[in-house]
Amino acid sequence: MRTQIAAANWKMNKTLQEGTQLLNDILSSDIDPSTTQKVIFAVPFPYLTVSNDVIKGRANIHIAAQNCHHKISGAYTGEVSVDMLDSIDIKYCIIGHSERRELFDESNQVIAEKLNLCLGKGLTPIFCCGEALSIREAGTQNDYVENQLNESLFHLNKVEIQKIVIAYEPIWAIGTGKTATSEQAQEMHAHLRNVLAKQYGSDIANNISILYGGSVKGSNAVELFGQPDVDGGLVGGASLIPSEFVQIIKALK
Ligand code: PEP
Repeated sequence: MRTQIAAANWKMNKTLQEGTQLLNDILSSDIDPSTTQKVIFAVPFPYLTVSNDVIKGRANIHIAAQNCHHKISGAYTGEVSVDMLDSIDIKYCIIGHSERRELFDESNQVIAEKLNLCLGKGLTPIFCCGEALSIREAGTQNDYVENQLNESLFHLNKVEIQKIVIAYEPIWAIGTGKTATSEQAQEMHAHLRNVLAKQYGSDIANNISILYGGSVKGSNAVELFGQPDVDGGLVGGASLIPSEFVQIIKALK
């Protein structure tokens, strides 16, 4: 069974006090992720260490960074390196979120460099891909997302690729309240798995967790996560509401 993952992306939300309360509210509910499930909280940089302390001792629950820089170190004022994340015991990092691609001009090549640095330090990248509405309307989403994988992932060898988590996030569904239908999600996830199988073989492709992201809520998570190639979700807005995120965690296969 592939690992099923509920990953929260807090983005630039919550003060430290509010974030700690949110974490505690979720942890004190009756969630109990099994060994084939993971719950990951991608919190703002300043809260990484405190959040790691809050989840300490909880099995299958992890803290992630939302981004890292693509250079090892140096004169990059305001940036955070993979070495820094490693030094505070962070094991996961979101890479290539569409907001980073759109607002901070991150290219597939820069994203590939970030992935390499994460893998080099033993961090698991949560690699985001997905098409804009115009691409979906033109019907070219499969080729578009395949190209994102091709340019950012396919330099990795068979061992490295299995250390990646992929999140398919159609941009038109992020923060819009407009969720992809479970059929649309399954269709793209199956396509991505086929693309991975062509490159690395089907045994490897079948081992890689592919999450869906885009207005996942407590009310649609069971239907989305029930699709055979959907291995959980990357969740923005609904991850900020304890009852919603708990419901999403409970919807994991
Ligand atoms: C996201 O931030 O990755 C995301 C999917 O956001 P939302 O759930 O709010 O659409």
